[in-house]
Amino acid sequence: MSFIELREIKFSYKGNKNGNFTLGKLNLSIQKGEIVSVFGPNGSGKSTLLKIISGGILPDEGNVFLNGKDIREYSHKNLAKIIGFVPTLSSSVYPFSVYEVVMSGRTPYLGFTGFEKKEDHEIVVESLKTVGIYHLRNKGINEVSGGEAQRAYIARALAQKTDVILLDEPTAHLDLKHQVAVFNLLQQLNTEKGITIVIVSHDLNLAGNFSNRAVLMKEGKIIKDGDVLNVLTEDNISAVFEVESKVSLDNQDNKSNLNIHIKCY
Ligand code: ADP
Ligand code: MG
Repeated sequence: MSFIELREIKFSYKGNKNGNFTLGKLNLSIQKGEIVSVFGPNGSGKSTLLKIISGGILPDEGNVFLNGKDIREYSHKNLAKIIGFVPTLSSSVYPFSVYEVVMSGRTPYLGFTGFEKKEDHEIVVESLKTVGIYHLRNKGINEVSGGEAQRAYIARALAQKTDVILLDEPTAHLDLKHQVAVFNLLQQLNTEKGITIVIVSHDLNLAGNFSNRAVLMKEGKIIKDGDVLNVLTEDNISAVFEVESKVSLDNQDNKSNLNIHIKCY
């Protein structure tokens, strides 16, 4: 049984005057502990796919199964204990502190009083430390850098204690150092805690080298799905992104797996 299974999914936005975008029909199975990168041009349906996986939107046709159970049968609270979502960074208008942002990950666990217990505070502190921003806990989320804010949202997903974390272009606004830091952190969470990761990214090199599996989307459909080296080929990149590319492989860092180098022009 797959951990996450999308079966014969079809979805379109109602009343979308900008055209007739339809996601699907698509099938996707994700096993526990996988790291899956989702690539595709703007408007190809990557964010919509993540929302379908998270239960944020329900498909018009088909089913999403989580641990073999239809996502429609989960309460919002129970779903939030399984799936965490890290959004694309946007400036928050609310003056929440970093600590409060991370504490919001505990919402599905609070009792009917809504009060946080000692355990919730301990989990928030541990999550802040894991992503290395404990010293920033009292700062406003709008007062820290993009990389630090992004780590706060990852810490929130950690505090949520979910089995899977979905990330929608988490490194979009980060400088190179912080992009690498986010990928290293995700790698660590996957290795040490077995967290399943589904990440939408435009960075074929960084995301490609960190994933076990790549999914290529175009016009609402999954065009390719499989091993990174089989999916990120020159032909597939040209078919999906309409750019020429040169793909080369090496294992210079002496890891057992090959590194992929993609140069587009
Ligand atoms: P991507 O993340 O790959 O850029 P999206 O999944 O965000 O693509 O969007 C796919 C298509 O659906 C786009 O054409 C977009 O304009 C449209 N779309 C996205 N969100 C909405 C919405 N809430 N209402 C109507 N149309 C939407
Ligand atoms: Mg998107």
